[in-house]
Amino acid sequence: MELRIEQLQQWARELGFGSIGVADIDLSQAEAGLQAWLQAGFHGEMDYMARHGTKRSRPAELVPGTVSAIMVTIDYTPGESRWIDRAWATLADPERAYVSRYALGRDYHKVVRARLQRLASRIESEVGAFGYRVFCDSAPVMELELARRAGLGWRGKHTLLIEAGRGSTFFVGTLYTDLPLAPAAQPCADHCGRCTRCIDACPTGAIVAPYRVDARRCISYLTIELKGAIPEPLRPAIGNRIYGCDDCQLACPWNRFARPPATDEFAARAGLDAATLVELFGWSEREFDERLAGSPIRRIGHERWLRNLAVALGNSAGGPQVLAALRARSDDASALVREHVAWALRRLESDPGAREGLDSVHNAHWRSH
Ligand code: SF4
Repeated sequence: MELRIEQLQQWARELGFGSIGVADIDLSQAEAGLQAWLQAGFHGEMDYMARHGTKRSRPAELVPGTVSAIMVTIDYTPGESRWIDRAWATLADPERAYVSRYALGRDYHKVVRARLQRLASRIESEVGAFGYRVFCDSAPVMELELARRAGLGWRGKHTLLIEAGRGSTFFVGTLYTDLPLAPAAQPCADHCGRCTRCIDACPTGAIVAPYRVDARRCISYLTIELKGAIPEPLRPAIGNRIYGCDDCQLACPWNRFARPPATDEFAARAGLDAATLVELFGWSEREFDERLAGSPIRRIGHERWLRNLAVALGNSAGGPQVLAALRARSDDASALVREHVAWALRRLESDPGAREGLDSVHNAHWRSH
């Protein structure tokens, strides 16, 4: 039996997806862009991106027999109307920790994949056994490009996917299938126009040109993907962001239309939306593991967590509590943590003049929002 898009949309609503669409798997145009990005070295230490070769841009090389991709989105926006103002307020408070809004709650990888499995069961009940595999940020899949081709939105100048009436604060999931489904008639048109707000808002200048991000400068990469030391010149601009960064999305006018999620799975856990840097820096490895069980943050491990917090503390206003917290970890077993703690202490203790200079640049950025 042929599967109609209206049927998929009905199931998507019932299962709590934000939107759904079908794409063909011809990514030949995007493949050239991906190769150019890799050749420029913009992927930094994410060697796996180059290692996967053409599997990413040729879905049938990853899953033989694939002819269509069903693309879905799941909203994660905090369920309150003034969430953007609240996010800016946290970013402007140097004592508090900022965690990217997508990571405040439950690990999205599992949520999205589980929901896609339920979608696959519905499809199976309609068409019988079929070949498929589900993904969410877990395999070499050009998720955003496929979602664009499925008509779910356009790639903004920050390279994320934007849907008119929904913004960009959603996860994208993929179901590769051997079912020959009718793809979206045409991809969504670009509605960025002359706007450059995301480019102007990026604290580290990672959007090096419209539609081109140098991951090596991106705070999400620096605080999550990068395993070693964060380059010193970029540390001041990280401010109080300890896991990911949302600035390009907070600045984007389309996110005024962001919608709350259908469930509360992504609501903040462990007080992460109101925690202070000192409080989080005090967590032992066991507390980190226990409090962040089921959170995507746990993937970076306690060492990188402390590394990121040390940078944020070095960017804070200092004071006795901050200095005591940093000194308590100056003999940490990890050389990575020790080095970042030493940097923070140097910054707070010995060069307040330079720090004030940096802060005035940093604060001017926040005042402009
Ligand atoms: S901030 Fe402006 S340029 Fe950037 S993605 Fe949004 S609309 Fe496009």
